[in-house]
Amino acid sequence: MTSKYETVIGLEVHLQLETDTKAFCGCSTEFGKPPNSQTCPVCLGFPGSLPVLNEKAFLYSIKVALALNCKIQEIIKFDRKNYYYPDLPKNFQISQFDMPLSYDGFVDVPSADGPAKRVHIKRVHLEEDAGKLIHPVKAANSLVDFNRAGMPLLEIVTEPDINSPEAAYDYLTALKSILQYLRVSDCDMEKGSLRCDANISVRRAGEKELGVKVEVKNMNSFKWVREALSFEADRQIALVEAKERIVQETRLWDAQKLVTISMRSKEEAHDYRYFPEPDLVPFIVDKKIIEDMRKALPELPRPRADRFVKEYGLSGYDAGVLTGQVDLADYFEECAREYTNRKALANWINGDMAAEMNTRNVNILGLGVRPKDLVELLKMIDDQSVSGKTAKDVLVEMVETKKRAGEIVSSKGLSQISDKDKIEEVVRDVLARNERSVNDYKGGKRTAITFLVGQVMKQTQGKANPAMVNDMLKKHLGE
Ligand SMILES: [Zn+2]
Repeated sequence: MTSKYETVIGLEVHLQLETDTKAFCGCSTEFGKPPNSQTCPVCLGFPGSLPVLNEKAFLYSIKVALALNCKIQEIIKFDRKNYYYPDLPKNFQISQFDMPLSYDGFVDVPSADGPAKRVHIKRVHLEEDAGKLIHPVKAANSLVDFNRAGMPLLEIVTEPDINSPEAAYDYLTALKSILQYLRVSDCDMEKGSLRCDANISVRRAGEKELGVKVEVKNMNSFKWVREALSFEADRQIALVEAKERIVQETRLWDAQKLVTISMRSKEEAHDYRYFPEPDLVPFIVDKKIIEDMRKALPELPRPRADRFVKEYGLSGYDAGVLTGQVDLADYFEECAREYTNRKALANWINGDMAAEMNTRNVNILGLGVRPKDLVELLKMIDDQSVSGKTAKDVLVEMVETKKRAGEIVSSKGLSQISDKDKIEEVVRDVLARNERSVNDYKGGKRTAITFLVGQVMKQTQGKANPAMVNDMLKKHLGE
């Protein structure tokens, strides 16, 4: 049924910039402080208080805009967005209306099957956050915390370029990766540093005109964005099929019931009665500052992935995974300086290390295994002082105890047995005790050797050098 329809999605990301102070006052932005302890007359909107633009927040905004290939506005102007809500003490939000600080950019989103897909960025603008309402369970009243009021927020809006919930997920992943490379935000969705709203409509395939769009909010993870949009597309298609009207409205994602629910009819821009912020003078940014910033941008995920393929001979897939997170890419490169088998290195990081990260729900830094410690372990495999199989267990132990590989191997007696005489002794014993398998082998059943190798490994607790065991068994079996 869905193939008869096209889904049209535009995304709005709000990114909290990691500055020490708020966007227009000197209040601290530290997370998790007692409610209303980080406020002042400016962010509480007392009459007569005057905002001053946070330079760092502004420069971070330009940095993001440049990394997203946007044009920078010549004159920077702020506006008041007027509305009344208990979390907004001033009754207006300082934002940017008709002249966002940057516009017309794009993100090339890597896709697993085929070339990158370009998502166009309509605008990136700087604004301030509102406070936070708290609704205690069973209480008659709601509470408000203004610590968040006035925090610098960057709004990143795409064109309605995205045509599936899956593509929305991929765009968000690529965007977050770029933002992390810029080190302008912790991008932590759980703390609300990165939030995403979506506009979604459907139309019959081939139609030019856009359908009625619905805004979806309250999606606190990329996974929920994908699920909410998928639900919403199906809901809208069902309405069209039933010849019912789609209402232009804002809907909330209910992550428990896995449905979107109607919240309110959607406001239009004119409802906000935007006008220029009279307390912040428009200003012109020196072009040289912008050009210097452009030159100073870090190497971003896609060019870095290309370099990983060229410089380290990795597959596109491995390079993509490693460069998807800046800390992971840095970690790989630090190891690569000391360890030349890059393919094996990538396999360990994307394999066993990634598995540990998943089980523990931490990133590479959270594992607490230093690059030089991983390199030590890999070198021990290479010089055969530990078997590949044992090394996997040693890695888990390294994560758990923060001990070095060498320490663990020697204290637990895990060294690989490469001593010929020792292996020979066990081989003889195994052959003597498994006459049937020996006869099977000699009678032409070549696979019987697998069982015999297994027996030797078992007797040596997996520590015998498997290649040596294989060779020696064959020798004794008359080859
Ligand atoms: Zn303040």
